[in-house]
Amino acid sequence: MDNSYLESLEALMTTDEAAGGGENGGIWVVTQATADGLTTWSGKLVAAARMLADQLGAYVQVLLLGSEDETLANALLAAGADGVHMTTTIIPAFTAMADFVTAREVEVLLFADTPVLRQYAAALAGELDKPFLSGCTGLEIDVETSGLLVQRPVMDNRINEMVAMGEGVKPQIVALFPEPLPEPFDDPYRTGDVETVDLPAETPWPWVAGESVEEPLQPPRLQDARIVVAGGRGMAAAGWPLLESLASALGGVVAGSRGAVDEGLIGEERMVDLMGQRIVPDLYIACGISGQMQHNAAIENARMVVAINHNPKAPIFKVADVGLVGDVAEIIPALINAIRDQKAL
Ligand SMILES: Cc1cc2nc3c(=O)[nH]c(=O)nc-3n(C[C@H](O)[C@H](O)[C@H](O)COP(=O)(O)OP(=O)(O)OC[C@H]3O[C@@H](n4cnc5c(N)ncnc54)[C@H](O)[C@@H]3O)c2cc1C
Repeated sequence: MDNSYLESLEALMTTDEAAGGGENGGIWVVTQATADGLTTWSGKLVAAARMLADQLGAYVQVLLLGSEDETLANALLAAGADGVHMTTTIIPAFTAMADFVTAREVEVLLFADTPVLRQYAAALAGELDKPFLSGCTGLEIDVETSGLLVQRPVMDNRINEMVAMGEGVKPQIVALFPEPLPEPFDDPYRTGDVETVDLPAETPWPWVAGESVEEPLQPPRLQDARIVVAGGRGMAAAGWPLLESLASALGGVVAGSRGAVDEGLIGEERMVDLMGQRIVPDLYIACGISGQMQHNAAIENARMVVAINHNPKAPIFKVADVGLVGDVAEIIPALINAIRDQKAL
């Protein structure tokens, strides 16, 4: 089995270029505080940044807007941040924010895709004269260029496209739907640097008076997806990013079984659910899913089912049109390589 995909990923982690380097460089996440604590999406965004940073050997820094409460900073560290920079300013002035981002040599700047933050990020990108993508549902690293690849739903949310942000562009600014992202795996023992920063406010706030902290828009519905790549408990060892890479390569949407939800690999809202999210894709790929009755009932109207499982007796093979017996850690990279080779032709 060809493991070149994983080898390239490992090689990336050792490059100096990829290393974030303390407080400068690396991946930055902009989060917001509410009257009750952090916005619900804050931890998810930090966890997504952590996943990306781990692939690159980079650092995750968080800019927390609207609070200098160390308890909130600690929650962000627990979710995966290496450092937290807090300000009571809710909406920083664009010029001050542009200077801040430039001085810190930010490589990737992540916002939640909320109506206000999307507008803010777009205006900031204009100020910095850098590219910006909104409406994104996933992130990965292009193993050939080390650049960021951003997943976005297109064609009425039926398929996803992967957009390269451009080699050497810093910062690459992205607004991401947090809802499909897995919940963070909180580690209360994680530590990191916490500081307060001085960022003047943008006044008057140009778009939404009095409305600065909000929850994100809804991402594309699982039920509408033409291609669904679903993982089960059997993806735990191989790692969820592998599944996301396969979905990206195919322009598909990521989902999970109850087993994956129980393992904390994906949120319940993305579960292939007998009682809720029955799905009708053209192609459903089940990776490390045993195929219990309740799961299979939720996918019975999929046009084609491909199953990957190392147990040849797994019940999923009874409902699969194509069955691949083997380890997901070997078969998925081989599939990704084959898809990329096909696209390159
Ligand atoms: C009332 C009720 C309703 C339910 N509704 C739903 C529902 O709507 N949706 C749902 O998904 N579940 C539902 N369930 C749960 C369902 O019965 C199963 O428990 C669940 O789907 C199992 O998830 P899983 O296949 O991910 O995990 P498991 O059953 O633990 O299977 C993991 C599979 O991964 C394989 N595997 C492990 N490692 C590897 C590897 N490295 N490479 C390849 N294969 C590997 C194993 O061989 C195994 O087949 C419901 C249960 C009940 C009781």
